[in-house]
Amino acid sequence: MLNVALFGPPGAGKGTQSDFLVEKFNLGYISTGDLLRKELKADSKLGREAKDIISAGGLVSDEIIVQILEKTIAENPYASGFLFDGFPRTRIQAYILEGLMLKLNTTLDCLINLEVPEEESVRRLLLRGKTSGRSDDNETVIRNRLKEYHDKTLPVLEFYRARGQCVDVDGTQSIEAVRDDVAKIVQDQYSKRPVSIVMFGFPGSGRGSQAMALAEEFGLEFIATGRMLEEEMAAGTDTGLKIRELYENGQLVPDEIVIPLIEKKLENSRGVRGFIFKGFPRTLVQSYILDGLLKKHECSLSKILEIDVPTLQLIERLDRRSHTDSRMPYDSSTEKIVRRLREHELKTVPVIEKYEQMHGVQKIDGTGTFEEVFERCAAEVRTLFQVGGRRG
Ligand code: AMP
Repeated sequence: MLNVALFGPPGAGKGTQSDFLVEKFNLGYISTGDLLRKELKADSKLGREAKDIISAGGLVSDEIIVQILEKTIAENPYASGFLFDGFPRTRIQAYILEGLMLKLNTTLDCLINLEVPEEESVRRLLLRGKTSGRSDDNETVIRNRLKEYHDKTLPVLEFYRARGQCVDVDGTQSIEAVRDDVAKIVQDQYSKRPVSIVMFGFPGSGRGSQAMALAEEFGLEFIATGRMLEEEMAAGTDTGLKIRELYENGQLVPDEIVIPLIEKKLENSRGVRGFIFKGFPRTLVQSYILDGLLKKHECSLSKILEIDVPTLQLIERLDRRSHTDSRMPYDSSTEKIVRRLREHELKTVPVIEKYEQMHGVQKIDGTGTFEEVFERCAAEVRTLFQVGGRRG
């Protein structure tokens, strides 16, 4: 998720810049002013409560703001981030935003402050008043809105400045120049967050070698639980022996063994561009664990890929591998191969179905040469590093 707040006095150009940002970065848009005007128009209970205050240019109560926010967030459960316009407008609302972000398992990335002097705000709002049809775009109300801004909203800026989350933009420039400045700030925020990709596919689909090549190509940390377990086996530890026994029976290794290994890997990979997971999550329980692990690393799922290969081809590939030196202990007999395929079908396919519903899963045609499949996967991963491409 990427969350940005646009800050500035009335008439600073927040609405104008929002249209562009929402489109370019694929964000959910939350303008408390627009939401209130909608309530007003619908003559709802909230609208009636807020009406007089809005017409006078005052700030409506924080209680009303919480209610309209809750409603809007609930209507956008899978947004890939939010752009806030006209919120937070009070110190209390800054705390409300904190709570809201926490609830969504995310944080505010930055607050962009559009700086415009008071007389310029008044000039713009009077001009807008000629066409906007907004009853609060007249001089008396405008002056009051600006007074409210100075008294109650400006202190919010200090709150974010103190936390290093505030970026200033000269809002008196042309719309295009402001747009370029703002886009650059948001783009920089995008680049800072690590991406995380999960690679699915039946055993034999090539998911491991493709994930490893993708990690190399895009500078990602390759997190392959199978490989970590092998390292344990090679080290000959007690855990390693236990793992070998489970492997030879074609069974899954319990989470008590797998999770601490992943945790350690993530811990040692702070500051990387992102992660690519292969062989994890394998069960629904592990999918919940992954959410928690990623959250701890200020990261969420960016993309889920599934390499799709027809069953007969899978069996042929696994059988071929079982006759080579690169075979794994679990490849050594038909019975074990079938058991692994069945484990995937029973335990991992439900995870893919869950992700399909929650985030969407990109199916990759896994037939053809390694390079052809790689190019299909890479095209998907590349979108994460382009503007507006990130999910999750
Ligand atoms: P805007 O469209 O952002 O200029 O907002 C228009 C009016 O709606 C403001 O003058 C306030 O009366 C009210 N309003 C909008 N957002 C908020 C907010 N976050 N807190 C309190 N009042 C708000």
